[in-house]
Amino acid sequence: MVRVGVRERIAAAETPELVGQEIMLAGWVQARRNMGKIVFIDLRDSSGVVQIVFGSALKRGSELLKTLRPEYVVRVIGLVTKRQSGQENPDLATGTVEVQAQILEILNQAETPPFEIGHDRPVGEDIRLRFRYLDLRNRRMLNNLTLRHKVWQFIRNYLTDRRFLEVETPFLTKGTPEGAREYIVPARHYPGKFYILPQSPQQFKQLLMVAGIERYFQIVRCFRDEDTRGDRQPEFTQLDLEMSFIEQADVLNLLESLLVALIKAVTPEKTISHLPFPRITYAEAIKKYQTDKPDLRRDKTNSNELAFAFIVDWPLFEFSATEGKLVPMHHLFTSPRDEDVKLLTRSPDKARSKQHDLVLNGFEIGGGSIRIHQADVQRQVFEALKLSATEVEKRFGHMLEAFRYGAPPHGGIALGLDRLLAILANEPNIREVIAFPKTGDGRDLMMGAPSELPDQQLREAHITIRKAPS
Ligand code: ASP
Repeated sequence: MVRVGVRERIAAAETPELVGQEIMLAGWVQARRNMGKIVFIDLRDSSGVVQIVFGSALKRGSELLKTLRPEYVVRVIGLVTKRQSGQENPDLATGTVEVQAQILEILNQAETPPFEIGHDRPVGEDIRLRFRYLDLRNRRMLNNLTLRHKVWQFIRNYLTDRRFLEVETPFLTKGTPEGAREYIVPARHYPGKFYILPQSPQQFKQLLMVAGIERYFQIVRCFRDEDTRGDRQPEFTQLDLEMSFIEQADVLNLLESLLVALIKAVTPEKTISHLPFPRITYAEAIKKYQTDKPDLRRDKTNSNELAFAFIVDWPLFEFSATEGKLVPMHHLFTSPRDEDVKLLTRSPDKARSKQHDLVLNGFEIGGGSIRIHQADVQRQVFEALKLSATEVEKRFGHMLEAFRYGAPPHGGIALGLDRLLAILANEPNIREVIAFPKTGDGRDLMMGAPSELPDQQLREAHITIRKAPS
């Protein structure tokens, strides 16, 4: 008799190579078809789906057959056989074979899922997100997570081969000025004080350059408490990198060669329409395309066309009507162009910067700059922004201090990986390429976040909730 438990489990996708062999499979019942004396099930595991036939070969478990329902977890031992000619299923990767079951075991039962799994029928997004662990059983989602993993792996290997070091930076930190509202975390041991969840590792990566790391990268979560604006997530993932002793062209060339190699490796069906990536000045982009995110695709209906472009020579500052003064176009560590440093004191609004953005098919997917590494230029920028000396000291004293100890020239970029993935996966929004995303209005429907907290927890965090006047 065959003993269960001592055999190696085979993945459904491997079955076409194992014709004539007795194997053990385990997974979920995707569908069951009753054909009188014979019952078929589609058995799904993380590798794919294979058809199991319960017929005359079944020695054990036949009494369980009638109880089988969708999403039951089962283990099957059986013989892999070629399907009779005419019975092949071209829609299934394992469609040339089937498994003649000898033993059936039910490992667990399942309630009727709130939506069908493994079918292309449309399901509302709220219900998908509420039961995300079921939604993720669908092949489309598994494919997206697999692509995500491949992209991560490729980037890590590519940059490691080029002497980059992946360094983790803190999530509990102090605010950094990059334009977005920040998530705040009460510091229990310091009543009235708070940590901030970082919008990006900007200051830490610059400090790593002061530390002599020279080539840093990190695939990192960033947090921004923004109002619902289109397809955004409160937490999202960036490829963040920074290099020392380089010019702007070095950063752009590195990112370009990384992306070209990545796309060739993970989505070879895609074509890149302009190589090298065009480098367009901000002024030119506005004049020619009336936008700083031009869509340069030749055929906008072709989902496999990718058109990248770098936008350079941005204005260093822009006027903010709400604040009534100049604010940085990028962030305040971005360097002015060398020939425009003299404008900082005379007409800062005319100064151009060493900012670079990366645009793909009309989306901004990355941004960065060459940074200021000289304390006097940084001071002039603070003055142009009308930041008082006390404010500067309070917010950026640590940066100015560090820059006094020999900061190398440096610069970098951050790439929005969720957006890049959504485009590579031909998905309409970034939620489809994130395992557990939040809704467009920032809620996690599965976990029920955000949520209220027990009084005790609020007390410990020194928080009193002021009830809204009724
Ligand atoms: N910290 C910037 C951002 O997240 C990127 C950079 O300047 O490198 O957009």
